[in-house]
Amino acid sequence: MHIVWSMSNEELTELALQIYVDQQRRKPALPLEAQFYPYANLNHTVRLRCGKIFFRISDVMQDAPRWALRAIIAILLLKLNHRKITPELQATYRSYAGSQEVRHRIHQIRRQRAQKLLSLNNGKYFDLRTTFDRLNRQYFQSSLRVSLLTWSARKTRRTLGHYDHFHDAIVISRSLDTEWVPLLLFEFILFHEMLHAYSGERYHNGKRYAHHREFRIREKTFHRYREAQELMKQFSARIR
Ligand SMILES: [Zn+2]
Repeated sequence: MHIVWSMSNEELTELALQIYVDQQRRKPALPLEAQFYPYANLNHTVRLRCGKIFFRISDVMQDAPRWALRAIIAILLLKLNHRKITPELQATYRSYAGSQEVRHRIHQIRRQRAQKLLSLNNGKYFDLRTTFDRLNRQYFQSSLRVSLLTWSARKTRRTLGHYDHFHDAIVISRSLDTEWVPLLLFEFILFHEMLHAYSGERYHNGKRYAHHREFRIREKTFHRYREAQELMKQFSARIR
């Protein structure tokens, strides 16, 4: 079993203090504070600010081995005091920073952050997340989960909504996020994609069906189904 043990900011400060005393042979004259910081890379800084010594260690290192944390803190301290960094210290830190595992982790964190950016749910006129939650309560007993809910990057006009089975993602066309699109239409398109996420695809004679019988029956439970259908027709004609 692999146990991940994440260090807290308090513990990091404690460690930095220890290293300071070891290296400088005295207690720091100023208060010292250290924290993990969400840098995109393995960046670390130390500054004197407002009468405090301030360490910021990339949060990539939150579950790094203690020897690696000791090394980077010692390096930062030497830099702060304009002293030469020993090759041993340099090599110790590099053996951590250059490892396959760490590079993989940085890559992973970058991807997660990019995804977070992508999933900005606030449109100019409609809020995806709020509407999703409301429809989820209303039609799915709040049981529906998707990995990603997002506006499309471009104003796709042919596809107003899309559910991606592979990524478990609902993508709604940004072309819907305008003032003249009625809320009902936006809700219906989102509901339709949620229904895809909920009911999956059916296979029959080797063919895939997304809009299968059960899907169509459930779709008609939408509260103003006919009105929404009518709006769909008008909208499709308008943007063509
Ligand atoms: Zn569909």
